[in-house]
Parts: sequence; C-alpha cells; structure tokens
Amino acid sequence: MSGVNEIRSTFLDFFKKNGHEVVASSPLVPHNDPTLMFTNAGMVPFKNVFTGLETRPYSRATTAQKCVRAGGKHNDLDNVGYTARHHTFFEMMGNFSFGDYFKEEAITHAWNLITKEFGLPKDRLLTTVYHEDDEAFELWKKIAGLPEDRIIRIKTSDNFWSMGDTGPCGPCSEIFFDHGDHIWGGPPGSPEEDGDRFIEIWNLVFMQYEQISADRRENLPRPSIDTGMGLERVAAVLQGKHDNYDIDLFRRLIDASVELTGVKAEGDQRASHRVIADHLRSSAFLIADGVLPSNEGRGYVLRRIMRRAMRHAELLGAREPVIYKLLPVLVSEMGRAYPELQRAEALISETLKLEESRFRKTLDRGLSLLDEASRDLSKGDSLDGETAFKLYDTYGFPLDLTQDALRTRGIHVDIGGFQDAMQRQRAEARAHWAGSGDKATETIWFELGEKLEATEFLGYETEKAEGVAL
Ligand code: ATP
Ligand code: MG
Ligand code: MG
Ligand code: MG
Repeated sequence: MSGVNEIRSTFLDFFKKNGHEVVASSPLVPHNDPTLMFTNAGMVPFKNVFTGLETRPYSRATTAQKCVRAGGKHNDLDNVGYTARHHTFFEMMGNFSFGDYFKEEAITHAWNLITKEFGLPKDRLLTTVYHEDDEAFELWKKIAGLPEDRIIRIKTSDNFWSMGDTGPCGPCSEIFFDHGDHIWGGPPGSPEEDGDRFIEIWNLVFMQYEQISADRRENLPRPSIDTGMGLERVAAVLQGKHDNYDIDLFRRLIDASVELTGVKAEGDQRASHRVIADHLRSSAFLIADGVLPSNEGRGYVLRRIMRRAMRHAELLGAREPVIYKLLPVLVSEMGRAYPELQRAEALISETLKLEESRFRKTLDRGLSLLDEASRDLSKGDSLDGETAFKLYDTYGFPLDLTQDALRTRGIHVDIGGFQDAMQRQRAEARAHWAGSGDKATETIWFELGEKLEATEFLGYETEKAEGVAL
C-alpha cells in the first residue's frame, strides 16, 4: 500500500526524470494575485509565467501545491463531509510546460504515470475531451488505446479552461477512475454523473489559445500545459478505497477524533468526524501561512471553517476545546513534507484553542435559539432570515454554519431575508450615527464600511469575491 507521502514522491520523481524542475509548494495566500482569496490550483503560482510577464530558468516544472477551495469561484465547503472526494484543503500535484511540450507529450506522461508507475488497470479508466478537440480524442485513442466509448466528448465549460475574460485558455481533458458498479453514479456527461462511482482524478489543460477580447481568440504561438491531480483522490484509488476519507492520512485523523470524543464514526456522526478532520487541515495550513481568524476577508473564511468544525465537535458531545488536541497527529503525518506546520505548531494550537474557547460561549446559546426557531419546520421549509441574521450578529454563527446545521433535516435558510435584515441593521446604524458634522467624511466612512462588509459577505456567497481585492 502506498501512503500519501510515497505517492507524492512518486509523482514528483516521475516528472523530474522527464526533465521537470521540482518546485516547492507556494503559500496558500497568493503573492502574485491580490484578486484571489487562496491558492486554489497548482497553476496559480505560475500565472505570470503562462502569460509571459515572468520568465523562469526552466520551461517544465512539477509541484505538489497546497490548495484551499472554501470561497470564491471554487467553493467546496458545502461538499465536505458529504461527498467522497472533496476537501477544503488538499494537495494538487501537477506538471507544467511553459511553451515547451504540448498535448501529445502531456497525454503520454499522464498515461505512463497512472498505468506504469501507479499500475492502475486500463479498464477502470476513462477520459473526457472538449467536444471540438478532435486532436485530444485521437491522441487518447493512439497513446492509451482507449475504446471510443471511453473517451467522452463534453460540451460544457467543465472541459474548457480559461484564466479570466481574457488571456490564455484552451480545452481540457479529465481522467476518471471507475470505482465499480456497487457505487451509485454514471460516467461524465450522463444524467447520473453527480454520483461518486466515476471520480475525476486528473485534469489536463491544453492552453492553446489567447482570448484577446470577448469575440476574438487567437492561437498561442507556443502552447502550454497545466495539469492537476488530487493527491488524496489518487491515494484512495491506490489504497483500494473509494472514499478519500478512508486513506491512511484521514484514517489517522478520524481515529484520533473518535478516540478523543469517544463517539464512533458511524451514522450521523460520520460526517462530523470527516468535517473535523478536513477543517483541522485547512485551518492549520492557513494559520501556518499567516492567516488569522478575523471578521473580514481571508480571516473570515478561516473563522467560518473553524466554527463549522466546532459545531461538529459539539454534535459529538465535546463541551470543551478539542480540535487543537488533534493537531499533533496532523503534524506527525504532514510535518515532514510541510515543515511550516512544525514551525507554526504552537501558534496554530493557541489560535485553535482560543477561537474554540471564545466561540463556545455563544455556540450553546445560539444552538438553543436555532433549535427553538426551527422546531416546527420540516423538510423543504426555510428558516426565516431574521433568525439567521440574529445568529450571525449576536451569536457569531457564520451563515454557512446555520445552513450546515439545518442541512440533514432538508431545511434551507431564507437568504433574501438574511440580507434584508443585514441591510436594515446597516441603515439603522447610519441613522443613529450622530456624526462629526462633517458630511463628506461620514459619507466616505459609511461607503467604505459598506464596501468592506460587502466584500466579506459576498466573499463567500458569490463568485465575485475572486475579483475583490482583499
Ligand atoms: P470535481 O469536478 O470533482 O469537483 P474539479 O474539476 O473541480 O473536480 P479541478 O479544478 O480540475 O477539479 O482540479 C484538478 C484536480 O484536483 C481534480 O481532478 C481533483 O483530482 C482535485 N480536486 C479538485 N477539487 C478538489 C477538492 N475539493 N478536494 C480534493 N481534491 C480536489
Ligand atoms: Mg470542483
Ligand atoms: Mg470536474
Ligand atoms: Mg477538473
């Protein structure tokens, strides 16, 4: 059985052998992109290399990049605990060609790695291509010898990647593993594709165009390659597991959580242990990269993640801070690969403990209020926005925590009502503001305040956050 550390080295060594520079993971807070909340893909640190703004002493690279998808364009927060394949923090392994090799070599490398190095059986693999990309279709047939019905043409944007409204873009090809017909789900492009039988393990992006304007796209003179493979997903496959949360690393975290709380990871409690293990990882890595819990921007995303985990610990009966007690297990599993975890261990531990102790004061009372307000609701109903806002404003419940708390009962939150309540409170604050008499300054102050708060709020509700400077 290959553990995650071994799989990571196998990946990096394979590309090193094939002429790639092994580059260390960049931090989760992107240096080169103030519009992006967190590094959410392996290519993020190389954005300027792909656009030509920056040059490097190498034209092919490979990385295992720390990623967080808990806000903005890629938000997997709601999936965590409930799907077999999503985390808020995960490692994306990738190989990159900056105007060096292109489609044929990328597909050859990918196929050799998964079938020869990793030894995956060909009959469990299938791929998708963008519907117009005949070249990729033919290459999969030629290089992998896949039958035509296992090279699926997809029309949607899932198989067309772009950096933004302008800039490099191109078709992509996703590689899926079939976990077997005992698991519900259909192949990509089928009506049942939301199931978890066919799991995407690797995405190959063929950057071959440059989008100049909305209606003008040109061929790039030297096309590039960007790929991303989820370490935890491929580890599940290699360890004969269907579920990412059953791999070595997660088993150890979940076992420790079971031991600490004395509650088995079964039935309704299973999701709680998974959420705790996942959120511990994202919180620890974010703190190690300098993010601290706060009420806006990145710090608020961290706070939401931590508080969500705390509610799940509460569900498991924990009445005092517990999450920080799991940290040593994480550090022993991942500290060698990521020494920043070891260096920041004391800070992470204190931050977790402090946030847990503070939130504990309002968590119980908030949960009682929520119980009471939702007692008469049933599946399909909505919790009124006023209550959700009161939980947010008075008890420090991030909106997604309230949504998550009602999820298993099939109850939604009236988001419009929540936003109205927030607006009303702002208007009242404005009306009560006696002010300095200097109207111009006050207007600026309020506008700024609203803008910042809007940033925080939109930051996790819409995709616009990607465009907001933090
Ligand atoms: P999915 O469709 O399953 O949500 P994706 O298409 O959003 O995945 P990509 O953006 O293509 O994922 O990222 C490249 C790879 O990173 C994926 O093929 C997958 O292996 C991995 N990956 C993406 N999101 C997650 C996540 N939330 N947790 C773990 N691994 C992930
Ligand atoms: Mg996704
Ligand atoms: Mg996908
Ligand atoms: Mg993908």
